[in-house]
Amino acid sequence: MTNDVDPDCIFCKIVGGELPSDRLYEDQDVLVFKDISPQAPFHGIIIPKSHIATLNDLRDEQAELMGRFFVIARDLALEHDLPGYRVVINTNSEGGQVVFHVHMHLLGGRQMQATLG
Ligand code: AMP
Ligand code: ZN
Repeated sequence: MTNDVDPDCIFCKIVGGELPSDRLYEDQDVLVFKDISPQAPFHGIIIPKSHIATLNDLRDEQAELMGRFFVIARDLALEHDLPGYRVVINTNSEGGQVVFHVHMHLLGGRQMQATLG
């Protein structure tokens, strides 16, 4: 099966190897790489290899794919000895989304504040 690709999308370019990334995990459907502008000592970006612009564009049958993001986040947190961590999916510009290829941030390695900005 081939992935949906948006040729103008920077995360699709990372999937395709056109743009470099520091890869942390990869399987057939999912890629995780280090955020270029980390907000914590550990900052991973978990993406589907297929282009899905936002969480709103996720189809019901893709629920399992997104469910796997949590399992991958958990495993990476354990692998990188993060005693606590945060996962975030910003959705649309009002939700703080800048890159329109759905992604989950995995942040850890420092004390997170209880309040969300
Ligand atoms: P968001 O605001 O949720 O859309 O987050 C987009 C994230 O992608 C930001 O944290 C950026 O630092 C990160 N980012 C943008 N370009 C790249 C890149 N080429 N490699 C790795 N991370 C990137
Ligand atoms: Zn994309």
